[in-house]
Amino acid sequence: ATNTDFVLAVEGLTVSFEGFKAVDDLSFYVDEKEIRVIIGPNGAGKTTVLDLICGRTKATEGSVKFRNKELTTLNEHEIVRAGVGRKFQTPSIYEDLTVFENLELCYPRGRNVFGALFFKRDQKVINKVRETAEMVNLLDQIEDSADLLSHGKKQWLEIGMLLIQDPALLMLDEPVAGMSVTERQQTAELLRRITADRSVIVIEHDMQFVAEIADHVTVMHQGKILAEGTAEKVKQDPKVIEVYLGH
Ligand code: ADP
Repeated sequence: ATNTDFVLAVEGLTVSFEGFKAVDDLSFYVDEKEIRVIIGPNGAGKTTVLDLICGRTKATEGSVKFRNKELTTLNEHEIVRAGVGRKFQTPSIYEDLTVFENLELCYPRGRNVFGALFFKRDQKVINKVRETAEMVNLLDQIEDSADLLSHGKKQWLEIGMLLIQDPALLMLDEPVAGMSVTERQQTAELLRRITADRSVIVIEHDMQFVAEIADHVTVMHQGKILAEGTAEKVKQDPKVIEVYLGH
């Protein structure tokens, strides 16, 4: 296979913090429409990998190619514009605005807050906002103030705020943390709808959820890849069991 088969090709990615290699010569490849889950004990380097891909942290060595475009030389904004969305654990929604307004603000034309608030709403934007709200199960609350949403629904709203920018790759850090069982189920379904035409990388701890959503699992330990494969396969890998239970 050549690089062009992958939406994301990470090769030899390394970052040192004062001599400590948080991510150490990491290589992995994500397919179009794949849900890739990264697991591993605390401090394994999972968050740092996402930080490196989205340009928050600069790599010491290695390359990140997104649809064959080198990302390591771009800044965070350029990487977003290239089509990579990242959701952090704490939602960054506007609590005083409605669901509709939150989504509208993220519509690419409306990146400028004032532009979004004072633009005359055209039907194209309204349609896109409604379509996105429906995608993230929030159509029936579209006129509600965001602060009225449950914790889980706030997470979905934030996913919607990324989706409306139409990323080809979405990166999510523990998307179901603090969610009810029903919300977890609905998030799994949401991720499947999302990957009908894009790829997702998820950091997750809940192995039951991992098994449910992952096409492939990458297990990290001490900045390196310990194992890779289906959830079923990595769960039975003695090296993985050792790292999770061995000390
Ligand atoms: P994980 O997400 O798997 O829990 P992290 O990527 O957050 O792991 O961290 C990996 C290691 O890198 C940890 O030992 C952490 O302390 C260290 N680290 C992460 N970011 C920095 C930083 N900006 N400066 C120094 N050390 C860092």
